[in-house]
Amino acid sequence: MLKINEHYSGLKESYLFTEIGHRVARFTAEHPERSVIRMGIGDVTLPLCPAVTQAMAGAVAEMGQAATFHGYGPEQGYGFLREKICAYYADMGVTLSPEEVFVSDGAKSDLGNMLDLFAEDNRVLIPDPVYPAYVDTNRMAGRPVLYINATEENRFLPLPDGDTQGDIIYICSPNNPTGAVYDRAGLQKWVDFARERGAVIFFDAAYESFISDPTLPRSIYQIPGAADCAIEFCSLSKTAGFTGTRCGYTVVPAGLVRGGMSLNKMWLRRQTTKFNGVSYVVQRGAEAVFTPEGQTQVRANIDIYRRNAAIITEALTRLGIWHIGGVNSPYIWLKCPGGLSSWDYFDRLLTGAGIVGTPGAGFGNNGEGFFRLTAFSSTDNTRAAMKRLEDMDE
Ligand code: PLP
Repeated sequence: MLKINEHYSGLKESYLFTEIGHRVARFTAEHPERSVIRMGIGDVTLPLCPAVTQAMAGAVAEMGQAATFHGYGPEQGYGFLREKICAYYADMGVTLSPEEVFVSDGAKSDLGNMLDLFAEDNRVLIPDPVYPAYVDTNRMAGRPVLYINATEENRFLPLPDGDTQGDIIYICSPNNPTGAVYDRAGLQKWVDFARERGAVIFFDAAYESFISDPTLPRSIYQIPGAADCAIEFCSLSKTAGFTGTRCGYTVVPAGLVRGGMSLNKMWLRRQTTKFNGVSYVVQRGAEAVFTPEGQTQVRANIDIYRRNAAIITEALTRLGIWHIGGVNSPYIWLKCPGGLSSWDYFDRLLTGAGIVGTPGAGFGNNGEGFFRLTAFSSTDNTRAAMKRLEDMDE
């Protein structure tokens, strides 16, 4: 008799963005004269940079000629891209070999797929609030989830203490949704904790390129001991506008061993069995991100988002609204004024100012009473939205 994975029936409906869509649709139907500025999405708004599109166009042309056509590529990614990624890490003071780098179609897939390597009765430790995929990928496998509280008191950067438990530990820094970023001392505490207990850290560095403060770590491998306990997931989605193009990379250190097994070898085995690699055209585009020309261009785009984030944080500061993030992150996390709930503030912003943000409650229980705004918009729209916010408050 066929048995399905019953854990799916226990998943909570992910209604956050659907509900936002419904409320915005209702508002625009009732007020067709009002314009709405969207500051809630986590998707980029700027296009791919010219270095990337030129490299991809060149690769498309190669694919159309018998002499330069590429069929199946290496599952782990082409050497030309993995070497560039190693050089990128070397600039941060991190030495990696190309065998430790796995090119993927994005961080989301790898974050979920990596769980193949771990038994289902491991305890998983996830900060609350956080990027929702961590919880659901574990619930799908029936794995018990423990939460660690990220709160206003710890500035949304929880640290382990004597009571903390967990075999697989998720850390997202810079964080989605809070924009909070761990410093070296904070990450060192997590690395020490994981090493003492033989736990493994899943370090999500999807927003590392938004870090402008040189004292803050952009990779967990900048922390001594991390290569013994951490897997790092990274993505070109937000760094270089690859949300629709799809390319990321995951680092599994060669020396990371658990239960007598090399996690690097296990992941290679998993990928070569279940994954056939990222397309040649996309990997050539990704390679261009790491050239000097590509870096200049992607940095210019990130600077635009940074400026937008500064416009938002300056307005919130003027209005006396408590907030964090937005400095080394595209996300700004604010405390709903007047003690409003996340959804009540959503409605107030929508009806009062025509601004769409994301209710913090959608990212976990501790997100209630908080709200996420993003810098992924045009500078004109960001300015207009903040003017509306300030006018609303007068
Ligand atoms: N990790 C975090 C924290 C994210 O916010 C996102 C996307 O929003 C991802 C991973 C997914 O990245 P990718 O587009 O590479 O799958």
